[in-house]
Amino acid sequence: MSDTDHDYCLIDVSRPPKADGPPYAECVLCREPTEYPESYKGVTLCPVCEWREAERTSCSG
Ligand SMILES: [Zn+2]
Repeated sequence: MSDTDHDYCLIDVSRPPKADGPPYAECVLCREPTEYPESYKGVTLCPVCEWREAERTSCSG
């Protein structure tokens, strides 16, 4: 329980760079190709999983 949790609606996500073309990195959740370059070091999510994660982590009101 923390008061700072209420401020978490503002998610400052540093987006990975969009790839100019293949090879694309795989989604870490469903293994679908993402829009991110394979060389990207970090968590890559396909548009679907990215959207779901955003829904899950966003402020539910
Ligand atoms: Zn996915």
